Amino acid sequence: MLDAVVVGAGPNGLTAAVELARRGFSVALFEAKSTVGGGARTEELTLPGFRHDPCSAAHPLGVNSPAFRALPLDRYGLEWLHAPLPMAHPFPDGTAAVLSRSVAETAASFGPRDAGTYRRLVEPLLARWDTLVQDFMSLPLTALPRDPVTLARFGLAGLPPSTWLMRRFKDDRVKTLFAGLVAHVMAPLGGLATSAIGLVFALSAHARGWPVARGGSQAVSDALAAYLRDLGGAVHTDFEVKRLDDLPPARAYVFDTSPAALARIAGLGDYYANYRYGPSVFKIDYALDGPVPWTAPEARIAGTVQIGASQAEIGTALRAASREGRAPERPFMITVQPSVADPTRAPEGKHVFWAYGHVPNGWSGDLTEAIERQLERFAPGFRDRVLARATAGPAEMAARNANYVGGDIACGAASGLQLLLRPKLSLFPYHTPHPAVFLCSSATPPGPGVHGMSGHNAAKAVWRRLRQS
Ligand SMILES: Cc1cc2nc3c(=O)[nH]c(=O)nc-3n(C[C@H](O)[C@H](O)[C@H](O)COP(=O)(O)OP(=O)(O)OC[C@H]3O[C@@H](n4cnc5c(N)ncnc54)[C@H](O)[C@@H]3O)c2cc1C
Repeated sequence: MLDAVVVGAGPNGLTAAVELARRGFSVALFEAKSTVGGGARTEELTLPGFRHDPCSAAHPLGVNSPAFRALPLDRYGLEWLHAPLPMAHPFPDGTAAVLSRSVAETAASFGPRDAGTYRRLVEPLLARWDTLVQDFMSLPLTALPRDPVTLARFGLAGLPPSTWLMRRFKDDRVKTLFAGLVAHVMAPLGGLATSAIGLVFALSAHARGWPVARGGSQAVSDALAAYLRDLGGAVHTDFEVKRLDDLPPARAYVFDTSPAALARIAGLGDYYANYRYGPSVFKIDYALDGPVPWTAPEARIAGTVQIGASQAEIGTALRAASREGRAPERPFMITVQPSVADPTRAPEGKHVFWAYGHVPNGWSGDLTEAIERQLERFAPGFRDRVLARATAGPAEMAARNANYVGGDIACGAASGLQLLLRPKLSLFPYHTPHPAVFLCSSATPPGPGVHGMSGHNAAKAVWRRLRQS
C-alpha cells in the first residue's frame, strides 16, 4: 500500500507530493492532463517558436515562497529571470508609478508627497520579511509564529480594506497602483484584509522581485516533477480521477482539486456546498512582431504591467465582473511580457505577451475589442505588432483546468472571509470529514498563486496523521 496518493499536478499537488516523498513516504501522483503543471504550464499557443504561459507567468509568490526556497529546484533547471523593473503601472499621460526592487526608487516614483509614507509602511516589514512570509503563508498557524511582533504589525496594516491603505497616500497614481495590486486576486477593493494583498505584492518586489521562469512557468512544474521522480515518487499523466476507487490503495489521499470536485470524488456530499466561486477572466496570449510600444518608458522594461487609469476605473471594472454580472467596458488588466526578461521565449526580435481582464463567472462573450482598446490607450500602435493571438474566456479556462470552476482562476472567490478562511471556517483547512482525505489546492490558505505553500501546509497535516497511525 502506498503512503500517499496526490490527485492533480499543479504547483500545490507537486509540492505536497515532493514534501511527503522527501520525508520518506511512498507517493504516486495522478494528473488529468497530458503534462504536469496545472496553472504553471508553457505551450506554443500561437505560432511555432513562441512559448506562452496559458496561466501564470510572473512569480513574485514563487520566488518568495518558503516552500520552493527550501527545495533544490535550481538543480532541476529552475532559473528565475528578472526584467529591469518588476512592475510598472502606466497612466494615459505617459507617466508611470513603479514597483522597483529598490524601496527608494519605488518611493521616488510615488512622488515627494508619498515617498516617506511608503518607506515607513514597508521598511519595517521588509527588514523581517523572511520570517514574516513564513508566518503568514502558514496561517492558520499550527505552531507559534516565528516573529509574533512583525506578524501583528503586518496584521494591523493588512487586515483593513485596501481603501483604508490607499487613504494614507495623497497622489492618485499611488492609490491606483495599490488598487491594481489588490485586483490581482480579483478581490473587491473595500474587502477585509485586502490591504494585505497590496502589501504582499509590494514587499515581494523589494525582497526578491517578480521574475519569470527561464523557458516559461512549465520550468517550475518540471523541476518539481523531476525532483519528485528522483525521490522515488511516481507521476501518472492523462489520468482523470473520477472516484476514489480509481486510485491505488493508500494511507492518505491529497487533492489538488476544487472543493466541489473533491466532494464529488470522495463522496463528501454537501460538505463544501457553501464554498463560493468567483469571477473569471478573458485572457489573450499574443505573438508580437516587436516589444509592446508603451508610451511610458518604465513599462517597456517591466516584467508585469498593470493597466487601469484610476482607482475608480479599476473599482468599476472589478464590480462589473464580480457583482453586476457584466463585462467591464474598460477592463482592469494585468499584462505580462516574459520576453523582456527571457528572449528565448520567442524568435529573435519577437515577443510573447499576455493580457487579461476580469469577466463574470461563466461569461460567454468576447472581450478582445475592449482589451485591445485599453492597450491602445497606453501603447498606441499595439495592434500593428500583433502576429497572432490565442483567446480564452471562462469556458476555455475551465476546459484547460477543472480547478477553474466557471473559469474562476482563483479556484474560489478570494473575497470576504473566504480570502483568509478557505475552504471553510475552520482551523484545519487541509482536513476533510474523511480521515484519509486531504485538500491542498489554492482553495486552501494561503490561496491563489504559484507558491506551493498550500501543498506544503497540507503535506504537514498529512505527515502528522501518517506518523500517528
Ligand atoms: C490566466 C491565469 C493567470 C495567472 N497568473 C498568475 C501569475 O502570473 N502568477 C501566479 O503566481 N499565479 C497566477 N495564476 C494563478 C495560479 O496559476 C494558480 O493559483 C495556481 O496554479 C494554483 O495551483 P494549484 O496547484 O492549487 O492548482 P492548479 O495549478 O490549478 O492545478 C490543479 C491540477 O489538478 C488537475 N486536476 C484537477 N482535477 C483533477 C482530477 N479529477 N483528476 C486528475 N487531475 C485533476 C488539473 O488538471 C491541474 O493540473 C494565474 C492563473 C491563471 C489561470
